[in-house]
Amino acid sequence: MRRKRAALKELIAQGHTNILDLFDQASEDSAPLELRGLRVDWFLKSIPGVGATKCERILTSLGIRPTARLGGLRVRQRSALRVEVIQLLRHYLPHLRGVLIALVGPSGVGKGTIVSWILANFPQFVVSVSATTRKARAGEVEGEHYFFVSESEFDRLIAQGGLIEWAVVHEKHRYGTPSAPVEDELDRGKNVILEIDIQGARAVKKKAKDALTVFVAPPTFEELTRRLESRGTEDEEEKQRRLRTARLELAAQNECDALVVNTHVEEAGQFIVDLALGARTDKASKEK
Ligand code: 5GP
Repeated sequence: MRRKRAALKELIAQGHTNILDLFDQASEDSAPLELRGLRVDWFLKSIPGVGATKCERILTSLGIRPTARLGGLRVRQRSALRVEVIQLLRHYLPHLRGVLIALVGPSGVGKGTIVSWILANFPQFVVSVSATTRKARAGEVEGEHYFFVSESEFDRLIAQGGLIEWAVVHEKHRYGTPSAPVEDELDRGKNVILEIDIQGARAVKKKAKDALTVFVAPPTFEELTRRLESRGTEDEEEKQRRLRTARLELAAQNECDALVVNTHVEEAGQFIVDLALGARTDKASKEK
């Protein structure tokens, strides 16, 4: 056990392991004993950049004994220490945070299919669930496809600063990206994909300089019209509205960091994954 614990501390000290993910795992019954039983002061002091003084200051301010074990913290202690661990991660180990990827492209271009392919094949990627004021379509599930909210609930989200970005899309409904779940996934090292419109991508880029914006283009405009028709989810007026937005979006494709033509889902998906992993490696080498 002692050897396993030493190996764990070494792993943390090397700066390649996401400390928030470890911290969260430690409270699960299924976590390895060397993790559950790791003393909080050893955990903190193993983090590159954290010395004995900083460790003591954190634990004293939270009223946590240095000898307490990671797996044995009380709920309130755990959530207070989690906030500190997030601060340490952001400050000392920013390269372990995930990459934020905004996928932009006209309605019907196949962003959803690409995202499903990525999620099915790469567990380190997750998709953000947006809030919207539009009504759910048949088969859409609350919290899975969108959080369907009223106009006043959307107003409240904006007022509370709970959205990274939001926009009126297709000249009609409001859509926005909730910030808390996205930041949490990024802290835990996941790469987070946003499926948003060009206005949203611009806003994301302004806020998070290291976010990646990727434009997904159809092979041709005729192909896009055909895909939108074969989907059959929109009436004629809605389809025309979406094609109008599509023209505007296509005109803005050069603003994005990268462009991918969605001819084959696997190729487009792999291209986006490679871009994100490349951006992560860049981030890590900049830190060194
Ligand atoms: P739909 O109504 O077909 O589900 O979505 C229409 C469009 O809204 C999508 O193609 C996407 O570009 C945009 N959208 C979805 N969620 C968001 C969001 O959170 N923010 C922004 N800015 N656009 C979004």
